[in-house]
This record gives sequence, C-alpha cells and structure tokens, in this order.
Amino acid sequence: MPGSEVIGAEERQEVLDVIESGILFRYNFENVRKDWKAFRFEDEVKAFTGAKYAHAVSSGTTAVSLMLAACGVGAGDEVIVPPFTYVATVEAVLLAGAVPVFAEIDETLCLSPEGIEAVLTPNTKAVLLVHMCGAMAKIEEIKALCDSKNVKLLEDTAQALGAFYHGKSLGLFGMMGGYSFDFFKIVTCGEGGVVVTNDEELYNKAHQFSDHGHDHIGTNRGLEEHPVLGNNFRISELNAAVGLAQMRKLPTILERQKANKAFFKDVLEQYEGVTFRYYPDPSGDSATFLSFFLPTEAQTLELLKHLAVEGVDGCQYWNENKYHYIHKWDHLKNYSTIARMPIELMPNRPDYHTMKFPKSDDLIARLISMVIKNNWTAEEKAVRAEKMHRALAQVLKLKTVNA
Ligand SMILES: *Cc1c(COP(=O)(O)O)cnc(C)c1O
Repeated sequence: MPGSEVIGAEERQEVLDVIESGILFRYNFENVRKDWKAFRFEDEVKAFTGAKYAHAVSSGTTAVSLMLAACGVGAGDEVIVPPFTYVATVEAVLLAGAVPVFAEIDETLCLSPEGIEAVLTPNTKAVLLVHMCGAMAKIEEIKALCDSKNVKLLEDTAQALGAFYHGKSLGLFGMMGGYSFDFFKIVTCGEGGVVVTNDEELYNKAHQFSDHGHDHIGTNRGLEEHPVLGNNFRISELNAAVGLAQMRKLPTILERQKANKAFFKDVLEQYEGVTFRYYPDPSGDSATFLSFFLPTEAQTLELLKHLAVEGVDGCQYWNENKYHYIHKWDHLKNYSTIARMPIELMPNRPDYHTMKFPKSDDLIARLISMVIKNNWTAEEKAVRAEKMHRALAQVLKLKTVNA
C-alpha cells in the first residue's frame, strides 16, 4: 500500500531522533526530552483532516475500542455494523461488551441508510459506520437518520484517511472517527491509530481512557488523578515518529493515487457490463482501490482467473477473503472465544448463523477491488493495462463507440 512504498530518509530521520533521545515513550521524562513525536503526529493529523482534536494510539483496532469507550457505548448496547469490513470493527464491539447488529451495505460498499433503518430497535445505541476501501458511505443521509433516531454515529475510518466528502474529512461527521496506520492502509507507522473529534470532552475522555485513566495534568505521574478506569492503548514514540513522516507525504501520495486510479479506470470503462462503486462525492475518494462490479458472479470469477493468468496483481476478491466479509466469519458465528465474552452471557444474543444479507451477498460476489500502487512507472502502467485488456477481452465485450 502507498505509505509502505515510500518509506525513506524522512522516516529514518524521525526514528533516529527518538533512538538518540533514548526516550521511546509518549509520556514522562518531561524535564529531559526535547520532542514529543506523538503530539506532533497528532498535529499533522489535525492539520490534514481539519479535526480540532486528535489522539494517537497503538492501532486502528484500539482506536475503534477507544471511540466506543469515549462515546459511552458499552455493556449490552446494540451497535449497528456492516457485514463488509475488516473483522476488527466487530471484535472491538464484542470486547466492549456490546452487541454487534449487522445491516446491509449498498453500492457505496458501506452501510446503507435503508439497511440501518431496517435493524434499528429501541436498544440501538450507536451506528459504527465503516467507510470501506478508501471512500465514503452516504454520510449525509446516515448522519440525518442517526440524528433523527437519537442514535450515536461513530466512524471507523481505518481505511479512509485522505478521503473527504465535499471537502470535509471522513471521521468528522459523527462523534468520533478512528484511523489505522497498519501496513495495508494509505499511510503506515508500523502499528498505530488516531482518533479524531471536534468535541473537547470526548477528546479528554479518549486521552484518559487510553492511558489507564490518568488525567495527564501536571508532570508527576505518581500524583496524577485517575478520574476513570481505562486501558493501555498508548502509541510509542518510535511508531509516532514514522507516522509523522508519513503524514507529511500524504498530499503527494494522494495525487499519485488519484492519477494511477484514473488511468486504470479508463481501461475498465471500455468494456460492456463493468460498473463502479458508487461515490456520493467522487472527488473525495482517496483512490487506494479501484472497486468495480461485473454483471454476474460467474463472470467475476472468470475474470479473476484471467487476471491471475496474466499476472495482474493486487486484485482483491473480498468474497473469498476470510477477514472482510461475514460469510467466512465462522469464529464469530460460533462464538469461538478463548475466554468467555459478555455476549455469551446474554440470553437474547443474536444467532449470527441465521442472518441473511441478500443485497450485500450479491454485491460482494460481483466485486473486485484492485489495489492502486503509488510508485508505478509509466511503463509498468502500460504493461499492466495491456494485461488487463487481454484478461477483460476473455470475459466481456468492448463497448462499441458511437460516432
Ligand atoms: C485495518 C482496520 C481496522 C484495524 O486497524 P489495525 O491498525 O490493523 O488495528 C479496523 N477497521 C477497519 C475497517 C480496518 O480496515
């Protein structure tokens, strides 16, 4: 993914700074340290997204857990989640003691307003909206729906840093957003996450919860108050240093992603039957993926076969991928846990075996997401386009051009 492709001198220098300082930790050593990489990483995220507050943590998963905790979502609360996401979203809800309730997605690849509406109950506490594959859900409608039903809106923006809806960063529409910086995201810091919000109180709660409830007032850790119980979701200075350098590269990364995506979209558009993911604001796509549908599942499988034969890499078929779509989540359906989770004690726990998602099933079975690389040369792109043409021509007809 883009960030991993451009790791270089800048990241090395930031990490070296930390090693040379000997202070690898986000907190303490106030009297001897020269720098706080974590705070500067947060400043970069704030500047880029326009968020008033940002708080860096150890991963995208802990970012989701932190949003749930800070927003007061916990034991027994129903949280609406999509069946198409990285499974971490669902795990965070389960570990919070809450109940994941699944709803249908639409052509945005995200939860649909109708899907959400269909599963709302008086016990619905929150919608945990995942902006999948680098772009937006129907955020305006979903926000209006949540507001009208008095349901909290939280955004899992792990995959959506760099994506905007009419100029506003995803992650700032609900109460909180959470970005991931793992290896498969637009920029990386080894492992890390950042939550953003415009609400000072939520920010303070998040800051405290992520560090065992410390109030972070004053410089003597031993004398700090603990207004709440919490956890350790702290990021290390080493990871934050990498994240800082990567954030500075994000504008350039995005430009190249968009150009590379447009190049290959052009190829696909020449074939009859190819349709694309729906973007409520196409210009706000971060272009990490080029996601498209074929008319039938059989044609999709056939095309994947030919793409593989041609050596066109990075073609994600989420339908067979064990992490991203619900029908392969046997561990969830069987409540396969090591220690018991709160949900296992709930007499009314949902039976995840019997859920049906006809709309989502149909979309996911016909969906291919091509990973868009940042560093492709013009020659590599030309060769790839030829390979794609050869594969596509095996399955679909070229559009006839009307003069
Ligand atoms: C990657 C991802 C996460 C988890 O992020 P990590 O940094 O890997 O913990 C959560 N939700 C979604 C939608 C993701 O894609």
